[in-house]
Amino acid sequence: MLAVVPPPVIVRAPAKVNVHLAVGDVRKDGYHDLLTVFQALSLNDEVTVAVADEPGIEVVGDSAEMVPADFSNLAWKAVEALAEYVGRDPKDPKVRVHIRKGIPVAGGMAGGSADAAATLVGLASLWKLEIGKDELADVAAALGADVPFCLHGGTALGSGRGDRLVPVLARHQFHWVLALDHEGLSTPSVFKELDRLRAEGEPPRVGAVEPVVEALATGDPRQLALLLGNDLQAAAVSLRPALRRTLRAGVDAGALAGIVSGSGPTCAFLCQDGESAVRVAAELSGVGVCRTVRVAQGPVHGARVMSVEEAP
Ligand code: ATP
Repeated sequence: MLAVVPPPVIVRAPAKVNVHLAVGDVRKDGYHDLLTVFQALSLNDEVTVAVADEPGIEVVGDSAEMVPADFSNLAWKAVEALAEYVGRDPKDPKVRVHIRKGIPVAGGMAGGSADAAATLVGLASLWKLEIGKDELADVAAALGADVPFCLHGGTALGSGRGDRLVPVLARHQFHWVLALDHEGLSTPSVFKELDRLRAEGEPPRVGAVEPVVEALATGDPRQLALLLGNDLQAAAVSLRPALRRTLRAGVDAGALAGIVSGSGPTCAFLCQDGESAVRVAAELSGVGVCRTVRVAQGPVHGARVMSVEEAP
């Protein structure tokens, strides 16, 4: 009898912005404790997992040439980790992974983590695994600090490495404009630059997280705009001084406030509403301070299998 091959599974996974990112001092082991509020945005990667005799990975879409299309890709690490967890051969998992990038690469928006989260969700469906959310989150956390949030989505408070999550209530949708840069920034080099700046002086530190959580609960973008903060911003700007101009240009174009997203260099601008976001995006793209501009809303779901109607 012929075995029935299950159809490919397509998963959409969101980018993230950190509306609040407090970075602790460097620890002896070189890591930093984080306290952050993530929001998942409607800027996605699409990951397809399919049964195949020949394992492999393909990457297409925005800046795909900057992403390793081999087994060093974080999505492939997710294949190996889940295969191992459920007792399949991680060296011969009999799957192919196809990634369509929409999230900027090395942009501070957790693109690689989104692909890893999408792969876990896709394989759980393809392999018909009976695996709980918590178990999947444990596999995710071993892959990278941002992977659990990309699974979770919505708005969440992250502590530890950013991987211990508690959901945060965010009323209404927030409207964002994202300014994508020509080149990425390496996350470890941004943390190193922050350590250097802190050894030399006292770069500004973000305030308390509670008012941010309250502003999210009210759903008032003006209140949230006053509280956006990122300890990595000074370091990202120090490595890429042109970001100062980008941040100014977004506010001049009518955004309520702008922030470097995570380790950058993407800048995220919070806008009053959807119409304002479209206007800000149009004006910003005309100023020539960035490679391209995107409009997005948040919060959105974490990595999710796309229904037949949604699939491209
Ligand atoms: P972080 O989550 O650390 O903020 P980021 O969002 O700034 O990261 P990513 O887009 O995740 O950056 O890429 C960081 C590096 O990881 C890239 O330079 C790339 O070489 C590598 N990488 C491995 N797998 C992927 C993937 N699936 N998508 C994007 N980059 C990947």
